[in-house]
Amino acid sequence: MAIEKTLSIVKPNSTLDNNIGNIMAVFEKNGLRISGAKFARLSKEKAEGFYIEHKERPFFGELVNFMTSGPVMLIVLEGENAVAKNRELMGATNPANAAEGTIRKLYAKSVGENSVHGSDSATAAEREIAYFFERNEVMNRF
Ligand code: ADP
Ligand code: MG
Repeated sequence: MAIEKTLSIVKPNSTLDNNIGNIMAVFEKNGLRISGAKFARLSKEKAEGFYIEHKERPFFGELVNFMTSGPVMLIVLEGENAVAKNRELMGATNPANAAEGTIRKLYAKSVGENSVHGSDSATAAEREIAYFFERNEVMNRF
């Protein structure tokens, strides 16, 4: 299987609940390496640009407000099948539907404040990583 990179974001509800380490531990215990990371406070413009595909959705304003309400942890994950693996570890968008043991089941508060972002395809991952990281900020260890 191919070695991939993917982008994870620990969202403000989880940075404020002191769950950054717990969430990173889920990745590391499940075969995903952390190959880039930074703590950041997103501007409204940066958050809107990141979620541009959702611009017409009714929750767009709420999503941008939430993502700029506190710090986030931007994480590049690397590993076999990393995009799908990360989505599996995250669980369903709505924590009410998330499987036992997934990050969203463990730590999310609601469908909006759902603890983590994860790229949904290899193409999205490439775009999203480049949106937040310079090339020399991401390691290649595999
Ligand atoms: P995912 O993050 O699982 O890929 P989407 O890409 O569909 O989910 O949505 C992006 C983000 O928008 C979600 O993670 C969540 O924070 C927010 N969101 C999605 N659906 C809703 C909703 N019905 N109400 C409020 N916020 C939502
Ligand atoms: Mg998505």
